[in-house]
Amino acid sequence: MEHLTNRIWVLLEHRDGRLKPVSREAVTCAQALAGPLKMSVSLVLLGDHTIEGLTHQVDREYGLEVLAIRTESGAVCTPEIQCEVLRQSIAQEAPYLVLMGHSYQVIDFAPRLAAQLDRAFLSNCLGHEIRDGKLHFIRPVFGGKLHQEMTFLGEPPFIVSIQPGAYSNQILRTEDSPGVVWKDIPPLKQNPGRRVLEIVEEASKKVDLTQASVVVAGGRGLASREKFQLILDLAEVLGASVGASRPPVDGGWLPKEHQIGSSGQTVAPRLYIACGISGAIQHLVGITSSQCIVAINKDPNAPIFNVADYGIVGDVFKVVPLLIELARELRR
Ligand code: FAD
Repeated sequence: MEHLTNRIWVLLEHRDGRLKPVSREAVTCAQALAGPLKMSVSLVLLGDHTIEGLTHQVDREYGLEVLAIRTESGAVCTPEIQCEVLRQSIAQEAPYLVLMGHSYQVIDFAPRLAAQLDRAFLSNCLGHEIRDGKLHFIRPVFGGKLHQEMTFLGEPPFIVSIQPGAYSNQILRTEDSPGVVWKDIPPLKQNPGRRVLEIVEEASKKVDLTQASVVVAGGRGLASREKFQLILDLAEVLGASVGASRPPVDGGWLPKEHQIGSSGQTVAPRLYIACGISGAIQHLVGITSSQCIVAINKDPNAPIFNVADYGIVGDVFKVVPLLIELARELRR
């Protein structure tokens, strides 16, 4: 692409007029990259005429440039159509980087998009680094057992998806909105091989810790399933979600979906309270996007204190009941 621009695109995923939470996190990632790379951020919405309301809402809320790509190519966009619309738009507008959340929808079209543009796709990224002006992304491999750092070879545009919860959702709002740019793409032919009949939301009981604003997590220091109840009590009184390091999950004290870390979920809450957790690297990679980390551990040398904003050196069985009592009092 000869006329490459210095723009970072963030593709905002939406359904029923609402943005997917991971899209906000992708915007935060774009803003973190934009300064050092001396680029600007454009938010990209793709859909039919019904995206108008959401487009204006995004414009008002974020104050960033919005590119609204409209196409009347069927009520529900298939991956083939999303891919083709984006391929055309990227070829015309030539962004430097295209960021998106790592969702089922993105998995469905982004590899195809990258192949059609003859570019690489770095998926499910957890973080980034900029060294000597070159962009590196960190992503889990082998089910989270290892992290690899990758960079792009060849020419931009680069395509990247980020893991839900890997970045915070605190978007820096700019006051002077550059406004909305509308782009209309003539209707495309539906792929005869695939037609979306209906979208059915999965009725799942899975715990989604990635979106929790307060998480109380317990580790091996809780000693047993019965004693882990203390963590559930503290979470309840704080209106928090319950997390755990790996030993409580391995011990069957609570289901795997509560595990936080490299082989569990990545969280980015406003407040993370770690109780009886030592702070092994496999746990820390899952919590580093937390805004405030409070650690309770009886060992003053526990590594968790290196990342904690507030540390309480003490016995969880003495400290946590006091916190529960205090929280109850404050709620009265
Ligand atoms: P420990 O390291 O045993 O720490 C317990 C802590 O509790 C200690 O610091 C101790 O001082 C404190 N303590 C004990 N009693 C009390 C008390 N009464 N009051 C206060 N403090 C007390 N781990 C994860 O968490 N998430 C993962 O996703 C994950 N994935 C992994 C993947 C791989 C491939 C491997 C090899 C490991 C993985 N692990 C993961 C395990 C990780 O290496 C650690 O073993 C684990 O995080 C330790 O959990 P912990 O801190 O609860 O236990």
